[in-house]
Amino acid sequence: MKSREYLPAKCRDDELARKHFEKARWPDGPVCPHCGGKSSATRIEPRPGSKRPVRKGVWQCNGCRRQFTVTVGTIFQDSRIPLHKWLLAIHLMGSFSNGISAYRLQRELDLGSYRTALFMVRRIRWALKQQPIKQEIVWRRKGINVPESLRSALAAES
Ligand SMILES: [Zn+2]
Repeated sequence: MKSREYLPAKCRDDELARKHFEKARWPDGPVCPHCGGKSSATRIEPRPGSKRPVRKGVWQCNGCRRQFTVTVGTIFQDSRIPLHKWLLAIHLMGSFSNGISAYRLQRELDLGSYRTALFMVRRIRWALKQQPIKQEIVWRRKGINVPESLRSALAAES
């Protein structure tokens, strides 16, 4: 990725981005998307000495024992794109009143392919049309730009 020192760290670091999303989505602690169980999940850490990599940000519900991450049920689910790139993409798409082209996004985020950029643009555009988008509201409150069209749509939610 190009040098973006002026951006918040969470737009440059996958772990920080994940923490940001977890805070935004679960202000009172993780909520199991499978059974709705609140605040009783355990973060799965790699066993000491284990060489098997643990998927990042995995939680296990203490109720139903199923595993989940903060991206389950969101537009970020099932993609290998690092979360900080998603965050930056949303930031960029919100910074231009006409949005941003997939081509430009590919360049700005240093994405491997145009298809990936197009995938992100489509998912984000779709999400921006859905209500409620709680994460969007949180980002807006934190000063990340949101286009005027979205702002009015979100006003009802805040
Ligand atoms: Zn559960």
